[in-house]
Amino acid sequence: MLEKCPFCQIINRGKEAYIVYEDEKCMAFLDAYPVTEGHTLVIPKEHYENIYEIPEEYLAHLIRICKRLALDYKKIFQTIGLNIIQSNGIAAKQTIFHFHIHLVPRYEQDGLSLFRHHFPRSEDNLSRAYHKIVNFQREIK
Ligand SMILES: [Zn+2]
Repeated sequence: MLEKCPFCQIINRGKEAYIVYEDEKCMAFLDAYPVTEGHTLVIPKEHYENIYEIPEEYLAHLIRICKRLALDYKKIFQTIGLNIIQSNGIAAKQTIFHFHIHLVPRYEQDGLSLFRHHFPRSEDNLSRAYHKIVNFQREIK
């Protein structure tokens, strides 16, 4: 629990939110600045800043809840798709430094454009990234 953290404040009921799910480990509530109807944040109740800090098992629980909500939202909002977005660090446009997963329901012609190609797509670039990953994986074994 961090006193100045807005998500810790929501967990401790010091700040209002539209809470749509809660259990002993996690909470889900509507994003205060929704990009589509039903835009939801799923967060751990313990304060972890990002993917580098959160324990694997804890993360697995959050993803299970994401799946349940995704299925529910299909029925509730008649969504035709869903983006799961999770940002780590200022460079990735993380603005609240309490780990969170965005569930962004998608609708016909919602006008939302998330994926634009900035990094040049070439066999060279793909192959270079692939070899960096594979070589690292070999080294740590
Ligand atoms: Zn927090």
